[in-house]
Amino acid sequence: MTLDRRSFLKLVGAGAGAAGAAGLPMIGMAAELMPKSGRRVVVVGGGYGGTIAAKYVRMLDKSIEVVMIERNKQFVSCPFSNFYIAGLTNDMNSLTIGYDKLAANHGVKMVYAEVTGIDPAAKKVVTDQGTLDYDRLIVSPGIDFRTEEIEGYDAKTAEIFPHAWKAGAQSTLLRNQLQSMKDGGTVIISMPLTPYRCPPGPYERSCLIAHYLKTHKPKSKLILLDANPDVVSKKPLFTKAWSTYYKDNFQYIGGKKITKADTGAKLVSVEGIEDFKGDVINLIPPQRAGDIAVKAGLVGDDKKWCPVDAVSFESTKHKGIHVIGDATALPSDGPPMPKSGYSANSQAKVCAMNVVNLLNGKETIEFSGINVCYSAISDHESVSIAQVFKLEGGKIKSSATAISPADFSLGKAEHAYGESWLKNILTEMST
Ligand SMILES: Cc1cc2nc3c(=O)[nH]c(=O)nc-3n(C[C@H](O)[C@H](O)[C@H](O)COP(=O)(O)OP(=O)(O)OC[C@H]3O[C@@H](n4cnc5c(N)ncnc54)[C@H](O)[C@@H]3O)c2cc1C
Repeated sequence: MTLDRRSFLKLVGAGAGAAGAAGLPMIGMAAELMPKSGRRVVVVGGGYGGTIAAKYVRMLDKSIEVVMIERNKQFVSCPFSNFYIAGLTNDMNSLTIGYDKLAANHGVKMVYAEVTGIDPAAKKVVTDQGTLDYDRLIVSPGIDFRTEEIEGYDAKTAEIFPHAWKAGAQSTLLRNQLQSMKDGGTVIISMPLTPYRCPPGPYERSCLIAHYLKTHKPKSKLILLDANPDVVSKKPLFTKAWSTYYKDNFQYIGGKKITKADTGAKLVSVEGIEDFKGDVINLIPPQRAGDIAVKAGLVGDDKKWCPVDAVSFESTKHKGIHVIGDATALPSDGPPMPKSGYSANSQAKVCAMNVVNLLNGKETIEFSGINVCYSAISDHESVSIAQVFKLEGGKIKSSATAISPADFSLGKAEHAYGESWLKNILTEMST
């Protein structure tokens, strides 16, 4: 739902009392965080997409002011958080970045605040600290969860059945639950139907948790309940890893869409007729674009993802607003770009270039992007998929795909490549 003028006034003027009745300009002035003098791009979300978009706009044109709004002072990467969950790394230091260098090196102005609304007509972003005007807005808020589709899911459920699908406290919770589970226990991972953040992520997690159990709690077992009828990513590689390394403690079951959660009875259920009990339950709910995208009316008729133009990433719902990363629904010919950090990085660069071109009255450039995704199958081997995407007839299409050899002959090398990938991409995001 787009913010109508009355709700907008309510948000901006909360606590402003009589000033609220005096109209938008006065309230806007009172609550404005940083007055705008020249051309300004505001970026919402300092994750995989937002940091790169903010940095590249500044690198391409220093005359454009860039303000990035992020709720947290530090960003914790989901990529490689499965290693931490499965006890293969001791902390999340290598997954955590700050924003100081992005500000110092590129002049990106940081605002640490919660974005609570967007007024596309007034070109204004509302935060819990005040408002910001923009000429163009780039939104990269990641995902939130469609928990309303799971009966019994309430505000407390994720504290008992962690999703760990946003890295940080949730990752620690799942890790601690696994470590304190008795040997002989059952772990359940429940994953949603596509599209969701990181298609191979749940399968990677299953390998690493199965590895943890095999090593530390050999009488325990892991069940992966997939809402999809079959494995949706790197199928030959994951199925081989399961049957080669984890056949004694792992079971994959496709077509199990969880519709009910009971934290008291420690079970998840399909249509209330088939229950799965677990000592540790990692319930990954179905997903949609981050809440702010929904609130701002950027999602399409499906009420889940944000339709955008495939060249500029400009929203088809609101002019002047561009959406990148997991939140997007890109017009695609064939399988869409996966919702990955690498995709968000590729999209951010093209979006930044086209936002600068549009602000300078220049032609937009056509999208060409890459996604490479490494997945660990054990503590020392990884597999990958690499895809090239380009624009064809207004749609984004995969033009080349490569997948690791099925005999895992590159497994050790790819494990090292994956580690360098993480280091490189987080350095690019934070310096
Ligand atoms: C377990 C797991 C493993 C993964 N592994 C890989 C991998 O190996 N490779 C890969 O490429 N991808 C991987 N991914 C996917 C990757 O994490 C996402 O695709 C990527 O983070 C998407 O980037 P984004 O910018 O859309 O969102 P994010 O990176 O989540 O950034 C969104 C940011 O917006 C902020 N935000 C949201 N709403 C507001 C608001 N209202 N106000 C202020 N700030 C706000 C959030 O705090 C956050 O910092 C993995 C994901 C998971 C869960």
